[in-house]
Amino acid sequence: MTLTTLGLPAIRRDDDEPPAEMPRSGPLVDTFGRVATDLRVSLTDRCNLRCTYCMPAEGLDWLPGDELLTRDELVRLLTLAVTRLGITSVRFTGGEPLLYRELEDVVSAVAALRPRPEIALTTNGLGLARRAQALADAGLNRVNVSLDTVDAEHFAAITRRDRLTDVLDGLSAAAAAGLGPVKVNAVLDHDSGLDDAVELLEYCLRHGYQLRIIEQMPLDASHLWRRDANLGADEIFAALAAHFDLTPDPAPRGSAPAQLWRVNGGPATVGIIASVSHAFCSACDRTRLTADGQIRNCLFSAEESDLCVLLRRGADDDALESAWRAAMWRKAAGHGINNPDFVQPQRPMSAIGG
Ligand code: SAM
Ligand code: SF4
Repeated sequence: MTLTTLGLPAIRRDDDEPPAEMPRSGPLVDTFGRVATDLRVSLTDRCNLRCTYCMPAEGLDWLPGDELLTRDELVRLLTLAVTRLGITSVRFTGGEPLLYRELEDVVSAVAALRPRPEIALTTNGLGLARRAQALADAGLNRVNVSLDTVDAEHFAAITRRDRLTDVLDGLSAAAAAGLGPVKVNAVLDHDSGLDDAVELLEYCLRHGYQLRIIEQMPLDASHLWRRDANLGADEIFAALAAHFDLTPDPAPRGSAPAQLWRVNGGPATVGIIASVSHAFCSACDRTRLTADGQIRNCLFSAEESDLCVLLRRGADDDALESAWRAAMWRKAAGHGINNPDFVQPQRPMSAIGG
Protein backbone atom coordinates (compact mmCIF):
# COMPACT_ATOMS: atom_id res chain seq x y z
CA MET A 1 0.00 0.00 0.00
CA THR A 2 1.38 3.39 -0.96
CA LEU A 3 0.55 6.21 1.38
CA THR A 4 0.49 9.82 0.30
CA THR A 5 3.00 11.65 2.43
CA LEU A 6 1.49 14.22 4.77
CA GLY A 7 3.18 17.43 3.66
CA LEU A 8 4.91 19.49 6.28
CA PRO A 9 5.26 23.22 5.81
CA ALA A 10 8.18 24.73 3.96
CA ILE A 11 8.75 27.17 6.82
CA ARG A 12 8.09 26.30 10.46
CA ARG A 13 8.81 29.00 13.01
CA ASP A 14 9.51 28.37 16.68
CA ASP A 15 11.99 31.11 17.59
CA ASP A 16 10.26 34.27 16.56
CA GLU A 17 11.42 37.75 17.45
CA PRO A 18 8.06 39.56 17.29
CA PRO A 19 8.06 42.56 14.95
CA ALA A 20 8.57 45.81 16.90
CA GLU A 21 5.40 47.42 15.52
CA MET A 22 3.15 44.44 16.48
CA PRO A 23 0.61 45.22 19.27
CA ARG A 24 1.35 43.19 22.45
CA SER A 25 -2.21 43.26 23.77
CA GLY A 26 -5.77 43.84 22.58
CA PRO A 27 -7.32 42.11 19.58
CA LEU A 28 -5.45 39.60 17.42
CA VAL A 29 -4.69 41.81 14.41
CA ASP A 30 -2.71 41.61 11.18
CA THR A 31 -0.97 44.37 9.26
CA PHE A 32 -4.09 44.90 7.12
CA GLY A 33 -6.20 45.69 10.21
CA ARG A 34 -8.20 42.46 10.15
CA VAL A 35 -9.08 41.12 13.59
CA ALA A 36 -9.17 37.36 14.21
CA THR A 37 -11.93 36.32 16.60
CA ASP A 38 -12.82 32.91 15.13
CA LEU A 39 -10.51 30.02 16.06
CA ARG A 40 -10.59 26.77 14.04
CA VAL A 41 -9.11 23.89 16.01
CA SER A 42 -8.17 20.66 14.28
CA LEU A 43 -8.33 17.88 16.90
CA THR A 44 -6.99 15.07 14.73
CA ASP A 45 -5.89 14.57 11.14
CA ARG A 46 -7.46 11.08 11.05
CA CYS A 47 -10.77 10.35 9.38
CA ASN A 48 -13.21 7.49 8.83
CA LEU A 49 -14.32 8.70 5.39
CA ARG A 50 -12.17 9.17 2.30
CA CYS A 51 -13.82 12.02 0.41
CA THR A 52 -12.27 12.10 -3.06
CA TYR A 53 -11.60 15.86 -2.95
CA CYS A 54 -9.86 15.56 0.44
CA MET A 55 -7.79 12.40 0.81
CA PRO A 56 -6.79 9.30 -1.15
CA ALA A 57 -8.57 5.93 -0.79
CA GLU A 58 -5.71 4.44 1.25
CA GLY A 59 -5.64 7.34 3.72
CA LEU A 60 -2.54 9.31 4.69
CA ASP A 61 0.44 8.68 6.92
CA TRP A 62 -1.16 10.22 10.00
CA LEU A 63 0.67 12.62 12.30
CA PRO A 64 2.69 10.70 14.92
CA GLY A 65 0.92 10.47 18.31
CA ASP A 66 3.79 12.03 20.27
CA GLU A 67 3.64 15.15 18.07
CA LEU A 68 -0.03 15.77 18.88
CA LEU A 69 -1.00 18.23 21.59
CA THR A 70 -2.10 16.49 24.76
CA ARG A 71 -5.50 17.36 26.22
CA ASP A 72 -3.85 19.65 28.80
CA GLU A 73 -1.65 21.41 26.23
CA LEU A 74 -4.68 21.96 24.03
CA VAL A 75 -6.80 23.39 26.85
CA ARG A 76 -3.94 25.70 27.85
CA LEU A 77 -3.75 27.13 24.34
CA LEU A 78 -7.54 27.46 24.08
CA THR A 79 -7.62 29.29 27.42
CA LEU A 80 -4.95 31.68 26.22
CA ALA A 81 -6.80 32.28 22.94
CA VAL A 82 -10.04 33.20 24.72
CA THR A 83 -8.70 35.09 27.74
CA ARG A 84 -5.77 36.96 26.11
CA LEU A 85 -6.34 37.08 22.36
CA GLY A 86 -10.02 37.98 22.10
CA ILE A 87 -11.25 34.75 20.51
CA THR A 88 -15.05 34.71 20.74
CA SER A 89 -15.83 31.64 18.64
CA VAL A 90 -14.15 28.22 18.75
CA ARG A 91 -14.92 25.62 16.09
CA PHE A 92 -13.61 22.05 16.47
CA THR A 93 -12.80 20.26 13.24
CA GLY A 94 -10.28 17.83 11.78
CA GLY A 95 -9.78 15.26 10.22
CA GLU A 96 -12.86 13.91 11.89
CA PRO A 97 -13.26 15.56 15.32
CA LEU A 98 -15.66 12.86 16.58
CA LEU A 99 -12.66 10.48 16.46
CA TYR A 100 -11.08 12.56 19.24
CA ARG A 101 -12.03 10.68 22.40
CA GLU A 102 -11.84 13.64 24.78
CA LEU A 103 -14.06 15.91 22.68
CA GLU A 104 -16.83 16.28 25.29
CA ASP A 105 -14.23 17.02 27.96
CA VAL A 106 -12.50 19.70 25.85
CA VAL A 107 -15.86 21.26 24.91
CA SER A 108 -16.79 21.56 28.56
CA ALA A 109 -13.38 23.08 29.42
CA VAL A 110 -13.94 25.75 26.73
CA ALA A 111 -17.53 26.33 27.86
CA ALA A 112 -16.17 27.15 31.34
CA LEU A 113 -13.95 29.97 30.01
CA ARG A 114 -14.94 33.61 30.47
CA PRO A 115 -15.93 35.43 28.40
CA ARG A 116 -17.62 32.23 27.22
CA PRO A 117 -17.01 31.70 23.51
CA GLU A 118 -19.53 30.29 21.06
CA ILE A 119 -18.58 26.62 20.50
CA ALA A 120 -19.23 24.83 17.21
CA LEU A 121 -18.26 21.57 15.52
CA THR A 122 -17.68 20.66 11.87
CA THR A 123 -18.12 16.91 11.44
CA ASN A 124 -18.88 14.28 8.83
CA GLY A 125 -21.67 13.13 11.17
CA LEU A 126 -20.55 9.50 11.69
CA GLY A 127 -21.30 8.67 15.32
CA LEU A 128 -23.02 12.00 15.92
CA ALA A 129 -26.37 10.27 16.53
CA ARG A 130 -24.83 8.66 19.64
CA ARG A 131 -23.01 11.74 20.93
CA ALA A 132 -25.11 14.79 20.01
CA GLN A 133 -26.88 15.03 23.37
CA ALA A 134 -23.68 14.57 25.41
CA LEU A 135 -21.97 17.24 23.32
CA ALA A 136 -24.88 19.64 23.83
CA ASP A 137 -24.77 18.90 27.57
CA ALA A 138 -21.02 19.65 27.57
CA GLY A 139 -21.70 23.10 26.10
CA LEU A 140 -21.53 22.68 22.32
CA ASN A 141 -23.76 25.30 20.66
CA ARG A 142 -23.93 24.36 16.97
CA VAL A 143 -22.89 21.81 14.38
CA ASN A 144 -22.11 21.86 10.69
CA VAL A 145 -22.45 18.40 9.17
CA SER A 146 -20.72 17.74 5.87
CA LEU A 147 -22.99 16.06 3.35
CA ASP A 148 -22.44 16.36 -0.39
CA THR A 149 -25.43 14.37 -1.66
CA VAL A 150 -28.52 12.55 -0.37
CA ASP A 151 -28.20 9.92 -3.11
CA ALA A 152 -26.78 6.78 -1.44
CA GLU A 153 -24.80 5.70 -4.52
CA HIS A 154 -23.29 9.13 -5.07
CA PHE A 155 -22.49 9.32 -1.34
CA ALA A 156 -20.60 6.02 -1.48
CA ALA A 157 -18.72 7.13 -4.60
CA ILE A 158 -17.72 10.50 -3.12
CA THR A 159 -16.79 9.33 0.41
CA ARG A 160 -15.73 5.77 -0.56
CA ARG A 161 -17.89 4.49 2.32
CA ASP A 162 -21.54 3.34 2.38
CA ARG A 163 -22.59 5.45 5.38
CA LEU A 164 -25.28 7.88 4.21
CA THR A 165 -27.83 6.67 6.77
CA ASP A 166 -25.43 7.32 9.68
CA VAL A 167 -24.93 10.91 8.53
CA LEU A 168 -28.68 11.53 8.16
CA ASP A 169 -29.25 10.04 11.64
CA GLY A 170 -26.50 12.30 13.00
CA LEU A 171 -28.22 15.34 11.51
CA SER A 172 -31.57 14.57 13.11
CA ALA A 173 -29.93 13.81 16.47
CA ALA A 174 -28.13 17.18 16.32
CA ALA A 175 -31.40 18.99 15.66
CA ALA A 176 -33.13 17.06 18.47
CA ALA A 177 -30.31 17.96 20.88
CA GLY A 178 -30.78 21.67 20.10
CA LEU A 179 -27.46 22.09 18.27
CA GLY A 180 -29.01 24.52 15.84
CA PRO A 181 -29.25 26.11 13.48
CA VAL A 182 -28.01 22.82 12.01
CA LYS A 183 -25.98 23.57 8.92
CA VAL A 184 -25.09 21.19 6.09
CA ASN A 185 -21.76 21.81 4.31
CA ALA A 186 -21.62 20.45 0.77
CA VAL A 187 -18.69 20.23 -1.63
CA LEU A 188 -20.05 19.23 -5.03
CA ASP A 189 -18.81 16.43 -7.24
CA HIS A 190 -17.91 17.67 -10.75
CA ASP A 191 -20.16 15.12 -12.44
CA SER A 192 -23.24 14.67 -10.25
CA GLY A 193 -22.92 17.87 -8.19
CA LEU A 194 -25.50 20.12 -9.85
CA ASP A 195 -28.22 17.44 -9.49
CA ASP A 196 -27.03 16.61 -5.96
CA ALA A 197 -27.32 20.29 -4.99
CA VAL A 198 -31.00 20.46 -5.98
CA GLU A 199 -31.87 17.27 -4.03
CA LEU A 200 -29.82 18.41 -1.05
CA LEU A 201 -31.59 21.75 -0.90
CA GLU A 202 -35.00 20.02 -1.06
CA TYR A 203 -33.89 17.70 1.76
CA CYS A 204 -32.58 20.57 3.90
CA LEU A 205 -35.74 22.64 3.37
CA ARG A 206 -37.86 19.64 4.46
CA HIS A 207 -35.82 19.14 7.65
CA GLY A 208 -35.08 22.75 8.56
CA TYR A 209 -31.30 22.51 7.97
CA GLN A 210 -29.34 25.38 6.42
CA LEU A 211 -27.42 24.29 3.30
CA ARG A 212 -24.03 25.86 2.54
CA ILE A 213 -22.33 24.85 -0.71
CA ILE A 214 -18.55 25.32 -0.77
CA GLU A 215 -16.44 25.58 -3.93
CA GLN A 216 -13.75 22.92 -4.04
CA MET A 217 -10.36 24.35 -3.11
CA PRO A 218 -6.82 23.21 -3.96
CA LEU A 219 -6.27 21.53 -0.58
CA ASP A 220 -6.58 17.83 -1.45
CA ALA A 221 -3.71 15.63 -0.28
CA SER A 222 -3.12 14.21 -3.76
CA HIS A 223 -2.90 17.64 -5.43
CA LEU A 224 -5.41 16.64 -8.12
CA TRP A 225 -7.49 19.85 -7.95
CA ARG A 226 -7.93 21.49 -11.36
CA ARG A 227 -9.56 24.89 -11.72
CA ASP A 228 -11.41 24.04 -14.95
CA ALA A 229 -12.82 20.77 -13.54
CA ASN A 230 -14.63 22.39 -10.64
CA LEU A 231 -18.09 23.86 -10.30
CA GLY A 232 -18.03 27.58 -9.59
CA ALA A 233 -20.48 29.61 -7.53
CA ASP A 234 -22.18 31.10 -10.61
CA GLU A 235 -22.84 27.67 -12.11
CA ILE A 236 -24.13 26.35 -8.78
CA PHE A 237 -26.41 29.36 -8.37
CA ALA A 238 -27.82 28.91 -11.90
CA ALA A 239 -28.57 25.21 -11.25
CA LEU A 240 -30.44 26.04 -8.03
CA ALA A 241 -32.21 29.06 -9.52
CA ALA A 242 -33.70 26.78 -12.18
CA HIS A 243 -35.62 24.95 -9.41
CA PHE A 244 -36.05 27.50 -6.61
CA ASP A 245 -36.88 31.18 -6.38
CA LEU A 246 -33.65 32.71 -4.97
CA THR A 247 -33.42 36.33 -3.81
CA PRO A 248 -30.47 37.96 -2.01
CA ASP A 249 -30.75 37.69 1.77
CA PRO A 250 -31.04 41.27 3.07
CA ALA A 251 -29.10 40.53 6.31
CA PRO A 252 -25.59 42.08 6.36
CA ARG A 253 -22.94 39.50 5.45
CA GLY A 254 -20.20 40.71 7.83
CA SER A 255 -17.25 38.31 7.82
CA ALA A 256 -19.41 35.28 6.89
CA PRO A 257 -17.91 33.40 3.96
CA ALA A 258 -21.29 32.37 2.52
CA GLN A 259 -23.33 34.59 0.29
CA LEU A 260 -26.89 33.85 1.41
CA TRP A 261 -29.98 33.56 -0.78
CA ARG A 262 -33.55 33.40 0.47
CA VAL A 263 -35.32 30.36 -0.93
CA ASN A 264 -38.88 30.65 -2.27
CA GLY A 265 -39.49 33.89 -0.37
CA GLY A 266 -37.79 32.77 2.89
CA PRO A 267 -37.24 32.45 5.74
CA ALA A 268 -35.09 29.46 4.64
CA THR A 269 -31.76 30.36 3.06
CA VAL A 270 -29.07 28.66 1.03
CA GLY A 271 -25.45 29.81 1.11
CA ILE A 272 -22.80 29.61 -1.58
CA ILE A 273 -19.20 29.91 -0.44
CA ALA A 274 -17.19 31.15 -3.41
CA SER A 275 -13.75 30.69 -1.88
CA VAL A 276 -12.08 30.44 -5.28
CA SER A 277 -14.19 32.46 -7.73
CA HIS A 278 -15.07 35.40 -5.44
CA ALA A 279 -12.58 35.27 -2.57
CA PHE A 280 -13.55 37.01 0.67
CA CYS A 281 -10.08 37.27 2.27
CA SER A 282 -10.41 41.00 3.04
CA ALA A 283 -13.10 40.17 5.64
CA CYS A 284 -11.33 37.11 7.10
CA ASP A 285 -11.57 36.79 10.90
CA ARG A 286 -9.94 33.34 11.33
CA THR A 287 -6.94 31.89 13.06
CA ARG A 288 -6.15 28.17 13.04
CA LEU A 289 -4.57 25.68 15.43
CA THR A 290 -3.60 22.24 14.11
CA ALA A 291 -3.65 18.98 16.10
CA ASP A 292 0.16 19.13 16.30
CA GLY A 293 0.11 22.64 17.76
CA GLN A 294 0.87 24.79 14.71
CA ILE A 295 -0.70 28.20 14.26
CA ARG A 296 -1.73 28.86 10.67
CA ASN A 297 -2.88 32.33 9.74
CA CYS A 298 -4.61 31.08 6.57
CA LEU A 299 -5.74 27.77 5.05
CA PHE A 300 -3.25 28.46 2.26
CA SER A 301 -0.33 29.66 4.31
CA ALA A 302 3.12 28.26 3.43
CA GLU A 303 4.38 28.79 6.96
CA GLU A 304 3.33 27.75 10.46
CA SER A 305 4.29 28.78 13.99
CA ASP A 306 5.13 25.89 16.26
CA LEU A 307 3.43 26.41 19.63
CA CYS A 308 3.87 22.72 20.50
CA VAL A 309 7.66 23.06 20.54
CA LEU A 310 7.42 26.28 22.56
CA LEU A 311 5.08 24.63 25.10
CA ARG A 312 7.39 21.65 25.49
CA ARG A 313 10.41 23.93 25.95
CA GLY A 314 8.59 25.43 28.94
CA ALA A 315 7.46 28.71 27.37
CA ASP A 316 5.26 30.86 29.61
CA ASP A 317 1.90 32.30 28.55
CA ASP A 318 3.49 35.63 27.55
CA ALA A 319 5.82 33.87 25.11
CA LEU A 320 2.99 31.75 23.66
CA GLU A 321 0.76 34.80 23.27
CA SER A 322 3.53 36.72 21.56
CA ALA A 323 4.24 33.85 19.11
CA TRP A 324 0.53 33.56 18.25
CA ARG A 325 0.27 37.34 17.71
CA ALA A 326 3.39 37.32 15.52
CA ALA A 327 1.96 34.48 13.41
CA MET A 328 -1.21 36.45 12.76
CA TRP A 329 0.67 39.71 12.19
CA ARG A 330 2.31 38.06 9.15
CA LYS A 331 -1.02 37.05 7.53
CA ALA A 332 -1.02 37.74 3.79
CA ALA A 333 -3.66 39.94 2.16
CA GLY A 334 -5.23 36.98 0.34
CA HIS A 335 -4.92 33.28 -0.42
CA GLY A 336 -3.54 33.88 -3.90
CA ILE A 337 -5.29 30.89 -5.54
CA ASN A 338 -5.93 33.01 -8.61
CA ASN A 339 -2.36 34.33 -8.89
CA PRO A 340 -0.16 32.81 -11.61
CA ASP A 341 2.52 31.91 -9.02
CA PHE A 342 0.08 30.16 -6.60
CA VAL A 343 1.54 27.09 -4.91
CA GLN A 344 -0.79 24.69 -3.11
CA PRO A 345 0.15 24.32 0.56
CA GLN A 346 1.87 21.06 1.41
CA ARG A 347 -0.37 20.38 4.41
CA PRO A 348 -3.76 19.05 3.18
CA MET A 349 -7.18 20.22 4.39
CA SER A 350 -7.62 17.13 6.59
CA ALA A 351 -4.52 18.05 8.61
CA ILE A 352 -5.26 21.80 8.70
CA GLY A 353 -8.92 21.74 9.73
CA GLY A 354 -11.57 23.22 7.47
N1 SAM B 1 -14.27 15.61 8.69
C1 SAM B 1 -15.05 16.76 9.00
C2 SAM B 1 -16.02 17.09 7.91
O1 SAM B 1 -15.89 16.56 6.82
O2 SAM B 1 -16.91 17.91 8.17
C3 SAM B 1 -14.25 17.98 9.36
C4 SAM B 1 -13.02 18.26 8.54
S1 SAM B 1 -13.30 18.62 6.84
C5 SAM B 1 -11.66 18.92 6.28
C6 SAM B 1 -14.05 20.23 6.98
C7 SAM B 1 -14.76 20.72 5.74
O3 SAM B 1 -13.81 20.88 4.71
C8 SAM B 1 -15.82 19.76 5.22
O4 SAM B 1 -17.04 20.46 5.07
C9 SAM B 1 -15.28 19.34 3.87
O5 SAM B 1 -16.31 19.12 2.93
C10 SAM B 1 -14.43 20.53 3.50
N2 SAM B 1 -13.40 20.20 2.53
C11 SAM B 1 -12.52 19.17 2.53
N3 SAM B 1 -11.71 19.23 1.46
C12 SAM B 1 -12.07 20.33 0.75
C13 SAM B 1 -11.62 20.94 -0.44
N4 SAM B 1 -10.61 20.44 -1.16
N5 SAM B 1 -12.23 22.08 -0.85
C14 SAM B 1 -13.25 22.62 -0.14
N6 SAM B 1 -13.72 22.09 1.02
C15 SAM B 1 -13.14 20.96 1.44
FE1 SF4 C 1 -12.77 13.11 6.23
FE2 SF4 C 1 -13.90 15.51 6.31
FE3 SF4 C 1 -11.85 14.96 4.61
FE4 SF4 C 1 -14.20 13.85 4.16
S1 SF4 C 1 -13.75 16.06 4.14
S2 SF4 C 1 -12.20 12.78 4.13
S3 SF4 C 1 -14.97 13.54 6.17
S4 SF4 C 1 -11.73 15.04 6.80
